[in-house]
Amino acid sequence: MQFGSPASWARLATGLCLALTAAGCGGAAESEETTVSRALQPPVALQPAVLPGRAAEQEDSALRAGARRVLTERQQAELAGAWGLESAPLTAPPAPARKPALSPGAHITRVADDLPALVRRVPTEDRVVFLTVDDGKEKDPRFNRMMRELDLPFSAFVSGYLARSNYGYFRDLNEQGVRVNNHTVNHKDLRKLNYAQQRAEICGQQDELEREIGIRPVLFRPPYGEYTTDTLRAARSCGITAVPMWNEEAFPDRMEYRHADQRLHPGDIILTHFRGTDDWSGSMTDLARQVLRTVTAQGFALARLDDYLG
Ligand SMILES: [Zn+2]
Repeated sequence: MQFGSPASWARLATGLCLALTAAGCGGAAESEETTVSRALQPPVALQPAVLPGRAAEQEDSALRAGARRVLTERQQAELAGAWGLESAPLTAPPAPARKPALSPGAHITRVADDLPALVRRVPTEDRVVFLTVDDGKEKDPRFNRMMRELDLPFSAFVSGYLARSNYGYFRDLNEQGVRVNNHTVNHKDLRKLNYAQQRAEICGQQDELEREIGIRPVLFRPPYGEYTTDTLRAARSCGITAVPMWNEEAFPDRMEYRHADQRLHPGDIILTHFRGTDDWSGSMTDLARQVLRTVTAQGFALARLDDYLG
């Protein structure tokens, strides 16, 4: 996110006002939001210098370039602080020009060449990891706002039976640039279903997402990470091209690693859930803080999964 131009300030301010209006500015969320609001006041340093002619142009552009660079870092730090983080998250490098080939290996399973690959770690040397959020029970707008204000990508994998109580939440996510993907209609263990039943679960969710959000995703994750060859055949039959799994699972108070070295690696996919204090020791913003602290401390940035996969 760039904070340099007056136009970007205006966009940011407008978005914040809408967010504050929607939240009603009340309750426990208020202190967090008003802190963010204060952090977003454009500083005086952005005002153009008043100098004659060409000197004014040069001075103005130098001031703006310098101010933008410093301001961006400072503003990012202020925003991060407003959301309870000690340091700003790292910024991901540009998306790869081409998505990496998915050859079978330690972190990629290919049941057959013509079936979607199961991916636990995306092949890349970029210092990036991917946050994926599953199911859809908790619908916490502060989590969306936090990730939007900090300009952090993540992907959702939504199950219809949980999303249906408020698809508007996921429509909002889609509008803020979060890819909403397929996690079946009813979240069943697909190993216990025949091909036709699996197809109804996966393709039925494609239809539901198209009806509710206007999208037909290409990424699908089976509930519990359990699947058969029929799962992949059924998924392929309704447009799925890749099946992201995970190497880590995040909770509000910890990260659980699949591998013994207990650390992140470039391209790792992190699983977490739309859950809140009914199920967890913390809220979704607590979860986000825990993830961001871990990711940043290990020198990684969150990147957009669909830039690399699908
Ligand atoms: Zn799930």
